[in-house]
Amino acid sequence: MTPIYDGKAKTLFAGPHPHTVIVAFKDTATAGNAQKRATFPHKGTLCNAISCKLFELLAAHGLPSHYIRKLSDQSFLAHQVQIIPLEVVVRNRATGSITKRLGIPRGQPFQPPLLEFFYKSDPLGDPLLCESHIFALGLATQNELREIQEQALQANKTLREYFAELRIDLIDMKFEFGKTPNGQILLADEISPDTLRLWDAQTKESLDKDIFREEKGDLVTAYREVARRMGLV
Ligand code: 5GP
Repeated sequence: MTPIYDGKAKTLFAGPHPHTVIVAFKDTATAGNAQKRATFPHKGTLCNAISCKLFELLAAHGLPSHYIRKLSDQSFLAHQVQIIPLEVVVRNRATGSITKRLGIPRGQPFQPPLLEFFYKSDPLGDPLLCESHIFALGLATQNELREIQEQALQANKTLREYFAELRIDLIDMKFEFGKTPNGQILLADEISPDTLRLWDAQTKESLDKDIFREEKGDLVTAYREVARRMGLV
């Protein structure tokens, strides 16, 4: 099969029906605007299993997405959407870029959760955007942005409650949204420890891609632990 898009952690192929795509996970990880890159056997299978289950969880809570169904160990079937080049970040606690940018202490809670937008652009290094920038760049209309905000906060609430039951603290996350040919806004991309920051509720140890970013342990062991608590392995 010929890929229609070859990304850093996933490849997209044309799906079996019109307006569908196959999302296939790779075993690669990148960080720091792809400056850092490595391969981790089994990572793709784990991210796929976790993503599928989380998209199914959100659907069961009334939040549809591009996800249709799991196809194989490494892939799922999805509705084809045009990705809006926005990284939609929801934060329940401070860590990562916001601690450096604003000097907020690591671990400080945000109540209500904090929502930020970044421009999905490797050449520009994914800069932070305010709403006026989004409208000036023509990335979304006011109504679309409101829809994106509502869906992102709803997804955070559902995921946070779910992970709390597994003794995992959902610290922050990055969502991507896409538009269907009839203009519907759908949650897209993946939802996995590559895009979520997850801390063990008791030890506060990372169970996510920060292990790779900060070289602090074995990535696959941590991803497998998340999958184990979710009942997937
Ligand atoms: P931060 O802005 O603190 O670096 O990241 C906030 C959240 O968004 C974290 O959960 C992080 O994993 C996610 N995130 C931000 N940028 C990217 C990206 O380019 N790729 C992935 N996979 N996740 C990202």
